[in-house]
Amino acid sequence: MNPLKQEIAATIAHDGPMTLEHYMALCLGHPRYGYYMTRDPFGAAGDFVTAPEISQMFGELIGVWASEAWRMAGSPSPAQLIELGPGRGTLMSDVLRVSRISPAFLDAISVHLVETSPTLRAIQQQTLANSGKPVSWNADVNDTPPGPAFILANEFFDALPVRHYVKTIPGWRERLVGLAPSGELAFGLSEHVETSLNVPAREGSIIEVSAIAQRIMSEIAARLVREGGALLLIDYGYTETSLGDSLQAIAKHAYVDPLAAPGEADLTAHVDFAALARAARAAGAKVMGPVTQAHFLVQLGIERRAQALVNRATEEQAQAIADAFDRLTGTQDPRRHMGALFKVMAVTHPDMPDMPGFIV
Ligand code: SAH
Repeated sequence: MNPLKQEIAATIAHDGPMTLEHYMALCLGHPRYGYYMTRDPFGAAGDFVTAPEISQMFGELIGVWASEAWRMAGSPSPAQLIELGPGRGTLMSDVLRVSRISPAFLDAISVHLVETSPTLRAIQQQTLANSGKPVSWNADVNDTPPGPAFILANEFFDALPVRHYVKTIPGWRERLVGLAPSGELAFGLSEHVETSLNVPAREGSIIEVSAIAQRIMSEIAARLVREGGALLLIDYGYTETSLGDSLQAIAKHAYVDPLAAPGEADLTAHVDFAALARAARAAGAKVMGPVTQAHFLVQLGIERRAQALVNRATEEQAQAIADAFDRLTGTQDPRRHMGALFKVMAVTHPDMPDMPGFIV
């Protein structure tokens, strides 16, 4: 048993079973043993690869989008450029580099990274050391300075804990993590029947609720309505709320048992875009999309960008660019292609005109 599993087992022995949401929060964010707190999980040698790590084209197009969003919002100055969950800092580095072609944007913004992991903060600091802009860190988006904000979130919302409710004969009951007689962690159900969930479904059906993601979305949307700006959210997920469980644990590019080694595998859930869009609209914000990542990147000109890079590349580099283009925009094979599995949604001040990437 790893130390986090021992700690969780002891907590359960003392306080009783914990919710899946609480378990996920400990696995990902426990200050000492949490998955993101202690490691750099990205890249071929890590557990998974994200779009900014595949190619600079991704961050460059997002940078062009961000400066365009700023211009369409009336070029406010000062403004904040905020990234949620910046990983290695690669996306922000590409965004700031490409923004040199929009000096007025670069002058207006101050850069804020929302990151809980000290390990990843240190890597981000290194990556951005020569970016030409001072960078500051916050643990919570609510702690960033007020003012018009342009907020980027790639693969952030999928890392937030979810709740599961399972349909039983008496009604919906929340999934808990408890102890099996062997002393191992085991899933179980709360005794309590959730009467607020009034969804008809067959016994055994699961509802996944992203309460934390919805709360963060409500807070950001309220800020954008109050102060102006836009949020760009890119993640894998589904466009209609539906029954089912999308919780997955991934280590070394393979699926593993989420209870086997807490803190050693990445725990994620697919993003419920419809629920996040409802939360944003309820706060008075405008929602654009979701569209597929392929649609978004092609509309922003990834083909032209890839061609420009190929034109000054060696044969080997040209192959790598073609390969990255295929991974980012391909749609056939969801294990390799991100183009259809990943969706892009923007949340903005209600007066924002329709933005590039979202025209259908
Ligand atoms: N955007 C990056 C990394 C995605 S992984 C990329 O595309 O490569 C998720 C990131 O979110 C990590 O940086 C992780 O440490 C951070 N994170 C996870 N939960 C968080 C939370 N509750 N608050 C702030 N950051 C969080």
